Amino acid sequence: MITGPSGVGKGTLVARLLGRHPEIWLSISATTRAPRPGEEDGRHYRFLSREAFEAQVAAGGFLEWAEFAGNLYGTPRQPVEEQLAAGRPVLLEIELEGARQVRRTFPAGQQLLIQPPSFAELERRIRGRGTDAEAAIQKRLARARIELEAVAEFDACLVNDDLEESLKALELLLGLSGT
Ligand code: 5GP
Repeated sequence: MITGPSGVGKGTLVARLLGRHPEIWLSISATTRAPRPGEEDGRHYRFLSREAFEAQVAAGGFLEWAEFAGNLYGTPRQPVEEQLAAGRPVLLEIELEGARQVRRTFPAGQQLLIQPPSFAELERRIRGRGTDAEAAIQKRLARARIELEAVAEFDACLVNDDLEESLKALELLLGLSGT
């Protein structure tokens, strides 16, 4: 399971990892956040209304869920259980509160934290993305500080400075051989 503040480059890192290791199965989360330009329903997220999301919470349909910067995010339970039963390596890319819930459910799962080279760099990346309003940026930065302070809870952490180097380090931590 991979956690890391908004803007740290988790998405790019995970996409590259999956490109090199197609045997890994990435969970597609549900969210009440509006799609960003280029994001597709069912590929990046399942985009749900708050009502639909809450109904799924009530039905026990999420392995974990949390509120992040004003929106709800959750990991649909059934597909994860199916993939685990089939013996596939499962990857979750989720924020800190969800990571804490998963830690209770799957204590044996490996939990990694991705860190930025510095907080200033993180802020530069979040702003550079240009997709979030100022209020959302402030919420994401505040949350980032909390997530980075939780580093000791994780099995390992990785500073995402150079993408290729980070990818290699990630493969090593996950026990995957590079290509
Ligand atoms: P974003 O809006 O930038 O796509 O995601 C915001 C945060 O929500 C990121 O830290 C991301 O890892 C996290 N996130 C994405 N999906 C899930 C999920 O299913 N559960 C939880 N707890 N967090 C998620």
